Amino acid sequence: MTRYNTPVSSLPGIGTRRQAALARLGIFTAGGLLMHFPSAYQNRGNVKTIAEAKDGEVVSLELTVASTPNVVRLPGASRRTMLKFSAVDETGRVSVVYFNQDYLKDSFQKGTEGRFFGRLTLHNGVKTLGAPDFEPLHGRQPLRPLTPVYPLTAGITRKLITSLIADLLELGIDMPTALPESVRQAAGLCTFDEALRWIHFPDTYEALAAAREYFICEELFTFACSMKLARRRGDIALDAPKIIPPEGALERFYASLPFAPTGAQRRSIAEIAADMTGSSGQPMSRILTGDVGSGKTLCAAAAAYLAVCGGFQAAVMAPTEILARQHYEELSQLLSPFGISCALLCGATKASERTSILDSLAMGTLHVLIGTHALITPDVIFSRLGLAVTDEQHRFGVRQRAALTGSPGENEHPHVLVMSATPIPRTLALVLYGDMSHSVLDEMPPGRQKVDTFVVNESYRQRLEGFILKQVSEGHQVYIVCPAVENEPERDEEDGELYFADRRFELPDTVLKSAVEYAADLGERYPKLCVGLVHGRMKSSEKESVMSDFAANRIHVLVSTTVIEVGVNVPNATLMVIENAERFGLSQLHQLRGRVGRGGAKSWCILVSDTRSENAKKRLAVMKETNDGNVIAERDLELRGPGDFLPLGTGRARQHGDAGFRLASLGSDMSQLKAAFAHADELLSCDPSLEKEEHRGLREALKRFDKSGIAAMLN
Ligand code: ADP
Ligand code: MG
Repeated sequence: MTRYNTPVSSLPGIGTRRQAALARLGIFTAGGLLMHFPSAYQNRGNVKTIAEAKDGEVVSLELTVASTPNVVRLPGASRRTMLKFSAVDETGRVSVVYFNQDYLKDSFQKGTEGRFFGRLTLHNGVKTLGAPDFEPLHGRQPLRPLTPVYPLTAGITRKLITSLIADLLELGIDMPTALPESVRQAAGLCTFDEALRWIHFPDTYEALAAAREYFICEELFTFACSMKLARRRGDIALDAPKIIPPEGALERFYASLPFAPTGAQRRSIAEIAADMTGSSGQPMSRILTGDVGSGKTLCAAAAAYLAVCGGFQAAVMAPTEILARQHYEELSQLLSPFGISCALLCGATKASERTSILDSLAMGTLHVLIGTHALITPDVIFSRLGLAVTDEQHRFGVRQRAALTGSPGENEHPHVLVMSATPIPRTLALVLYGDMSHSVLDEMPPGRQKVDTFVVNESYRQRLEGFILKQVSEGHQVYIVCPAVENEPERDEEDGELYFADRRFELPDTVLKSAVEYAADLGERYPKLCVGLVHGRMKSSEKESVMSDFAANRIHVLVSTTVIEVGVNVPNATLMVIENAERFGLSQLHQLRGRVGRGGAKSWCILVSDTRSENAKKRLAVMKETNDGNVIAERDLELRGPGDFLPLGTGRARQHGDAGFRLASLGSDMSQLKAAFAHADELLSCDPSLEKEEHRGLREALKRFDKSGIAAMLN
């Protein structure tokens, strides 16, 4: 029995080199290895006869060895050897060859029966199988129809990862399971052990479907619990600070603006102001959604302004340092005319500055503190915190917000406003935010230009590059988004016919562009172009420094993965190019498109896709037709399910840089999500702090789910 947190380095056969390679796949422990799921399955169950197999085809054949293997030394200095024998079925004969694998000789005695999987080619008229995979047929026991295909990296072959996983499953592992037995049974799922075995080595298609169902439900359930826990304030009787700003304060604020607020902004701010008077007896718990550019920052500024006018402090949290800085700059500008002081607190803030910020915060002379998660540390103490705003962009409120210290009064909790730039379909909002109020900015500030969107294929490559150069020569900047960080290594085996166990997950028909190679190639071919690179596997300090170079126009073209999705504002950028656009969800494409068109200049979004899938083309066409995030969100939910909207994939040990394969994000549907929330509700009402022994696995999963947040609440 292996412990799930055994480091991979102590597994047999894993030295430092393989350990590093596994780390690139996000695998650090035995448990992480088992949670490295196949991205597809080879369909070896589709067995053909020799007569049916065509030249060049990757096939599965059931054959009997018909001659004793013969080893010949090949001519030349390479000292290569070739093992060769013939094998037959009832329709014909093939020649089977392996190179430099003499030791296989004993496995292929005459009369041996088994399934051969590999590419069949014609050599001088002889059908030949080159180095096929072989599985012996043991008596009557049928072979598995599906063979896993894993995401790989240099130094990790499919053979290696398959055997590591098979060995672990053989030995058994004491993985804590997040799904409590009661929930598993209520949901009618297979057991965890079955799910683990079947996701890797399914005996049947049905077993694979059951395994996927298990992990999807587990992931959704963990997510639902984390949402419920983060929002549980509603269950506990908390007093709301009463924030009553002086008469006419809001109108004075509006009058100070260089523009008139939109109707939607006025309406949302009025809703926020009403909540903050505390007349409901509950602290505000409100989410504000609005398309990129709809002016959420102004709403946050108005809320902070009202809080300060009413005698309280406000905190504004952003997911990244660069965003926090942007908020700081905008808020300072809007609030300084009223003598409201703002400060920025990040990981990078100098110690001396930090001390003086914390002092004035505790004294109450500092009114608004803006920052990253650095705000949630025990020494950050407000004297009278009335409002906490979190700008989560697309991260959906799983972050902790209860831990800001310095409550406004005994048993009081600050008002909470969560901002998100991902429009949420109504049906989904009801499930996710049933216990929050919802304001929507459904109106754009006037004069906002439409980003023209085009869908093109590879044949436009040259014109596209010409267009990129033209934008740069005019002094503008360009984003290029790729779906992968690095090129996938060459496969060491034939893939043949692949099987994806999901109706929404189509067989990808395009080669993934990777950011690292793309940037290198572009920089090489256009030496005058300043090309930058940012992706999820970089350290966050590195990312931030590249982003600020881009913001300062020291970089012309920024090649990235979707890490830039989170709301950076570079108004000088006028072109967004998205490679392999078919691989992204619509809301994600919309979010990315929102990075341009933020300045005065005409902006474009070019979706590059070579897909032949009609469904994918239909989805991309939606992007061309509309710029309305709400419409796009509805279509996305319809076409891909709710997974794209959820911050999933962190529940287990796997954190895959950017392009992690997440079951629930690709294959879940609304009914599963609703069930997960219902189960979470039920469980948390019986065991609110998850103290019962049978919920230990869930506790651990939640800690992994959101390290900075939930963990602190459970301790
Ligand atoms: P987002 O909702 O994406 O966070 P921002 O708050 O960053 O949008 O606003 C985008 C831009 O629009 C900012 O430059 C902001 O100053 C401007 N803006 C906000 N509200 C208005 C308005 N009512 N009229 C004109 N410009 C506005
Ligand atoms: Mg914003």
